[in-house]
Amino acid sequence: MRTQIAAANWKMNCTLQQAEDLLNKLSAVTDFNTSNKIAVIAVPAPYLLLAKQKLAHQANMFVAAQNCYIKNYGAYTGEISAEMLQSMGISYVLIGHSERREYFNENNAMLAEKINIALEYEVTPIFCCGESLAIREADNQNEFVAQQLKDALFHLSAAKIVKVVIAYEPIWAIGTGKTASSAQAQEMHQHIRKTLEIQYGSAVADVVSVLYGGSVKGNNAVEIFSQPDVDGGLVGGASLIAEEFVTIMNALK
Ligand code: PEP
Repeated sequence: MRTQIAAANWKMNCTLQQAEDLLNKLSAVTDFNTSNKIAVIAVPAPYLLLAKQKLAHQANMFVAAQNCYIKNYGAYTGEISAEMLQSMGISYVLIGHSERREYFNENNAMLAEKINIALEYEVTPIFCCGESLAIREADNQNEFVAQQLKDALFHLSAAKIVKVVIAYEPIWAIGTGKTASSAQAQEMHQHIRKTLEIQYGSAVADVVSVLYGGSVKGNNAVEIFSQPDVDGGLVGGASLIAEEFVTIMNALK
């Protein structure tokens, strides 16, 4: 069975004290130890090491960065390298979140480079893709998402792409309270898997975890995650409330 993942994206939220409080609550979770389920917590960069320490005893909880840069080191003020993440024991990184694409002009060509450097330093990329409302209304979402995958991921060998997690996040559902229906999510996830299969074959397509993101909450997670091609979720707002996120973790298949 594919790894089922509850990924939290705190975005640019939480003071140090709030982050500590949230991490303490996750650290106190006692019953999340099954072999195919993990939680991945993408915290703001200043809290990466704190999160590592707080969750060190949790075998199935991992810490993620929300971004990394395309270079190893050098005069790139404010950026974080995959090599730094590796040196801190950070094992996941979000790549290409729609907010990075929108506010920081990240395009698929740049994201392909970020994917390469993350993989080079053995930090698992969670690659975000998904269409805007205008694209959905024009019924072009399948072509659009397939193109994002081709441009940012399909230069990878089969051995490399199985190390990537994909998160489908329709932009119209992020932070809006408007969730894709479970049928819409399944339809797109199946399309993503088919697109992977055409490029790499079914053995590869069958093992890549594809997460759904967009207003996942404690009360809709079970239904969304129960879809056969949905392998968990990437969760923004609801991940800032520990009890809510734990409910979402427990909704994994
Ligand atoms: C996200 O930030 O990736 C996200 C899906 O946010 P929200 O759950 O708040 O819609």
